[in-house]
Parts: sequence; structure tokens; C-alpha cells
Amino acid sequence: MQKINELQLAKELIRFPSVTPVDAGVMKFLEKKLKKLGFKTKIIEFREKGLKPVKNLYARLGSKNPNFCYAGHLDVVPPGNIKDWTVNPFKPSIKKGHLIGRGANDMKSAIAAFVSAVSIFLFKNKKFNGSISLLITGDEEGDAINGTKKVVEYLKKKKERISFCLVGEPTNPNVLGEMIKIGRRGSLTGKLTIIGMQGHVAYPQRANNPSSIIVSILKKLKDIKFDKGTKDFQPTNLEITKININNTADNVIPRIAEATFNIRFNNKHSSNSIKKRLNKIFKQNSKISKSKFKIEYRVSGEAFLTKPDKTTFMIQNIIKKITKIKPKMSTTGGTSDLRFIRKISPGLEFGLVGKTMHKVDEAVSVKDLKNLTRIYRDILQNYFK
Ligand SMILES: [Zn+2]
Repeated sequence: MQKINELQLAKELIRFPSVTPVDAGVMKFLEKKLKKLGFKTKIIEFREKGLKPVKNLYARLGSKNPNFCYAGHLDVVPPGNIKDWTVNPFKPSIKKGHLIGRGANDMKSAIAAFVSAVSIFLFKNKKFNGSISLLITGDEEGDAINGTKKVVEYLKKKKERISFCLVGEPTNPNVLGEMIKIGRRGSLTGKLTIIGMQGHVAYPQRANNPSSIIVSILKKLKDIKFDKGTKDFQPTNLEITKININNTADNVIPRIAEATFNIRFNNKHSSNSIKKRLNKIFKQNSKISKSKFKIEYRVSGEAFLTKPDKTTFMIQNIIKKITKIKPKMSTTGGTSDLRFIRKISPGLEFGLVGKTMHKVDEAVSVKDLKNLTRIYRDILQNYFK
């Protein structure tokens, strides 16, 4: 069996311009690599009306339990204006000890590190007690409809068991080893429409201006004290992201005012408990202001927390041993695919330094990539000990 070099593989993966939902052949390429290592693989394509189909990959080596799973995504965000880059984002090159390219950080290099770690682990352990699997999606940066969510449903149906899942998203803010993510806040977006009555600005008594109503509601929303945060979570926070009154005349009171807000909530709430609370405010306001309202909600994920267990502490110790930093267990940041995976398996997130993710000249330190590979290798070594 051949050992795979992490830097070489990272470069190869970056060469595919796999901007969501385009696959550009990268799944097949990784599938081939995994097959050579002995994995049984399956590319799972999901379709949905109005969306481009998305390829996902599930690969497993071994049939015994425990099944240690690594999850990540091979899709990347668009490069933006290529002229702003100092290199071609899909022709990776190394400058001053950094590999530059789209996906260098989020998160093709981390996948390369894991595959390299597996190859080194297998080189030393021809036989081991359990299975290693990879769950790789092509729809993390996009709508996240035909990605991990559906793969998890598929695995559930197939009665596939995962014992622990390590998600390789970039979790460290500045240096490798700073941060493990053990949970995430939930995310709820609301689009509120207030329907008043149109009229002449000089005769406000004959109209009902939805703009003043929406301003007062938004103030109420912003003033809600959801909680003070918990030991594991930041306080729940609401941000107003859009206010829209589509009015072409300056002497007309509009009929409709719209606003959008997003709430990042901790595990003291569920999306339903928050909806209930907000709906009460909307209903009360509608009564007082004699206006109508419409509210549309979109839940991208509930808050969750994985209680640190034996595996969490083992991983924390290995990171400390290699980076000389004891990683914090955190729940900060946006949502991640672990919100889907946690329905079938416990897990945590640890990957590279996220400083340059989604940016021009996205880069990864070659040294970090080497150390992450060692961390992943030692995690496998210890997990199957
Ligand atoms: Zn990512």
C-alpha cells in the first residue's frame, strides 16, 4: 500500500474548479484514490426540481464497528474576480510556505490531510478493529439541500452505523490547535411583511402607514432579551438584515413594508419556541396598529451541543501534543453540516485555520497541513487502539 502525500493531494483537488453545484470531476477523482486504499465507495447524486443535481460520496473501509467517519465538502465558493488573485485560484502554487488556491483552506486541504492520514495509518495497521468512512458532499457552500442532509437520510435508510464523526471544517481562528467546535447555534430567518393602507401623505388619517408600524415592531424585536448565554454558548442574538419599502413616489404612503431578520440562538431555545414568542408580538402589534402581517420563517438548523466524551478528550489531547496548544471547546460561528450528521452520530469539528476562507488568495500554511495530517493520523491510531 502506498502512502499519500497531503500537499500533493491538496494540489490535485484544488485543480478541479468545483464551484457549487458543479463537481468538475473531483468526486470521481477522490473516489479513485479511496478505492486504491481499499475503500468501498458510492457516489450518490441527488436532484431537486429547480436545482442542479449534486454529487456526494460515501466511502467505507471495513465492515466492523466502531465506524469512525470523516466529513467534509469538495465544493468551493466562486473565486470572484480572478484578476484580484496573485495566482490562478485553480492552479495551486506555493508561495512563502503557503499553498494558495480556492479551497486551500475551506476545505480541500483538510480532506487531503485526512486521506493522507488514512494511508499512513493503513501502512502501519494492515488490520484494525473497526471501519473508517468518509462522507463528502458537493453542496455545503450552496443551498445545502442535495448534500449532507440527504446523505444522512440515505445512510439512515441503509441502516449504516456511524460511531463518531469528525468534521474537517476550518475551526481555528488564528493558529492551528486553538479551537475544536463541539456544537453550533441554531439559525432562524424571518421575513416579515406589514400590510397597511395606501394614501396621500397630506391625509395620513385616511391611510395606515406600514413603515411606522414595521419600525416599531423591529425595535421590539431588537429589544428582546432572549438570554445571557450559557457556559457553552454565546447569548442568542437577533440582527435585522433587510428593510424594504418599495415606493416610487414621495407623496404616497405605501401599502406594504417588509423586513428580514436572522436569529442565531443557543440551546436554551428551539426554532419553535422562538417563533411562538415572535408571533405573539406580531399579533399584538397587528391589533394595536390595525394592520395585517405575514411572516415566513426559514430554519437552517437547531442549536446543538455534543457533550464532550472520551473521544472528544482524546482528540483534544492529541491536538495539544502536536500543536503545543490546548484547544478550546467552542460553539461559535455559523452553522455546519454537523447539524445534519448529529442526527445519526456524535461528533465534533476540527480542521485548519479559517483566516483566509472565501477570500482572494485563500491559502493554507504547508506546515499546518503537515501538522493536521499528523493530528488526524494520531486520532485514528488512538481511536482504534
Ligand atoms: Zn467549508
